Amino acid sequence: MSETLALSRIPLDDYAELLGAGEIEELRALAKPLRGRSIEMINSTAVGGGVAEILNRLVPLAEELELNIKWDVMTGGEDFFEVTKSFHNALHGAPYRASPRDFEIFLAYNERNRATLPLDAEFMVIHDPQPAALIDARKPGANHWAWRCHIDLSHPNRAVWDFLEKFVSRYDGAMFSSPEFSRQLPIPQYLFYPAIDPLSEKNQELQPDFIAEVLKRYRIDPQRTILTQISRFDRLKDPVGVIRAFRIVKRYFDCQLVLAGGGAADDPEGAVVLKEVLREADNDPDIKILELPTWAPLEVNALQRASTIVIQKSLREGFGLTVSEALWKKKPVVASAVGGIPIQIIHKHTGLLSHSVEGTAYQIRFLLSHPEIAAKLGEHGHQHVKENFLITQKLKRYLTLFLTLARAA
Ligand code: UDP
Repeated sequence: MSETLALSRIPLDDYAELLGAGEIEELRALAKPLRGRSIEMINSTAVGGGVAEILNRLVPLAEELELNIKWDVMTGGEDFFEVTKSFHNALHGAPYRASPRDFEIFLAYNERNRATLPLDAEFMVIHDPQPAALIDARKPGANHWAWRCHIDLSHPNRAVWDFLEKFVSRYDGAMFSSPEFSRQLPIPQYLFYPAIDPLSEKNQELQPDFIAEVLKRYRIDPQRTILTQISRFDRLKDPVGVIRAFRIVKRYFDCQLVLAGGGAADDPEGAVVLKEVLREADNDPDIKILELPTWAPLEVNALQRASTIVIQKSLREGFGLTVSEALWKKKPVVASAVGGIPIQIIHKHTGLLSHSVEGTAYQIRFLLSHPEIAAKLGEHGHQHVKENFLITQKLKRYLTLFLTLARAA
């Protein structure tokens, strides 16, 4: 994977300017005993979604620290990703009746991937439910296996969780994005916040000309208020609810809505949801529905920076990396109080939380009529992200985990 997708390199020292030399020294010191030791990260998509976004930055940074890290993506057919997407929704609490066939498909693809992936690194990190059964490849005493869960498991579908738990319990540890997302497990659990890379193409500063050019390309008027939600077209991101909230706001303020989203290789539902969104938008010229290429970090960055307000009206959420991305850009954010969003949005301090279409519209209207408060929230949000959700902190956490696992053994 590291060979097939060119991950852009940013020298570690570039981060010192932003975060202080001490932060980088600390990273180097923690990495020293791990130099040259092997780490393998495995997830189910190379692009699209928050996990790929994080790995895309974490892997080259770990390489900068001279760790022998690689990132492999498991492969699966449409049937596998349909099952795992249903599992994903069910683990987030959606109604779902799993059939024995679903479990068979899940197990068959995991078995196939066990035969093709190396799975021989000293530290194996398996991301999310899709590849969880790769643990069957573990040889006794050979290496350390950690399961990184990016989703909210607080109210999972019983059958799906009972099935997964048997695999998860055999790891050496599990990492969750919030204490509330975890389950009772017989293995140690760790709190791992997701993180953004402030210097990546997604988050770096941009020239105003480039932002203007992106707006022009998508026929967005830079002179008018821009409300934006960037998300895969997924029902749990509630794009239809965003349009309904926009319609309420529009009665009071002249504004445009940007709903931008690409797909993810492991999400087969995108096309269906996009159709629902287009139907709801009903050719309203002020609703810009943008189908972005799966990998378009500079465009996403530009759209976030051009926004007056960023919305994340998810019905369920893992962490919601888009929120940190917007806060980093000092944007006022209105987002649902679900999943990891309240960790990022401290209500009335780093943004505004909402619980419904009407609530979302109300908070947007409030910010549009109080721009000075909106600007303050953005400033506080930026600081909150800087202190808690940057990739360097995340890397530090991984290094500490590897040292802990090695010592425990
Ligand atoms: N994203 C993107 N293009 C899109 C939609 C999303 O690059 O068209 C990125 C977004 O900027 C963020 C990630 O994908 O970095 C989404 O992560 P999040 O945690 O918000 O949601 P997930 O998709 O993982 O549920």
